[in-house]
Amino acid sequence: MCDKLKEVNGLTSEEILNKYWSVERNVYPIDIATILFKMGIRVYPYDFSKFDESDSQRKILGAMVANKKDIAFLYRQGESLNRNRFTLAHELAHCCLAHLDEQTIPYVEYRHDGVVTDKCEIDANIFAGELLIPTKELRTILSNEYPNALPKVTKLAETFAVSVNVMAERLKYLKLPYIDECDRKIYCVE
Ligand SMILES: [Zn+2]
Repeated sequence: MCDKLKEVNGLTSEEILNKYWSVERNVYPIDIATILFKMGIRVYPYDFSKFDESDSQRKILGAMVANKKDIAFLYRQGESLNRNRFTLAHELAHCCLAHLDEQTIPYVEYRHDGVVTDKCEIDANIFAGELLIPTKELRTILSNEYPNALPKVTKLAETFAVSVNVMAERLKYLKLPYIDECDRKIYCVE
């Protein structure tokens, strides 16, 4: 197996943050590119649009290549910064959660619109959310900035440099109430 993959296999998002983002804890947005750099994983933009099929919504968001020693991530050129940050965190999640091996790399990540049902994809999304929106940092912001009010999902999304959708999913996962982009109060059931 690839040495780098072996090295990151089994790491949790908290372990990654404590090891590669320790000095900057409580600094956000979390700089996923710097974390990957420190982990020795190189990232490159790539023009995947040439592979888009005109009659399909199926688009490549990113890819992962590896040799005996190293892994590199490619992300889709032209996407928003937030989208690419999430793609990189999601690819790292697949590595840490041991979803990949020699047989599945090179790995191609397609856009999943609608409801995601694949267990690996759901778990990678949760992991990426934990990495980009760590519980500790999120709770600090909520208690410091919103002691007596519900947080606005749009404002939190801006703070953590993620999409509103990713932020809302993270709050729902943690069962934290918030105000959505239409100013509705969302209470997540315990
Ligand atoms: Zn994936």
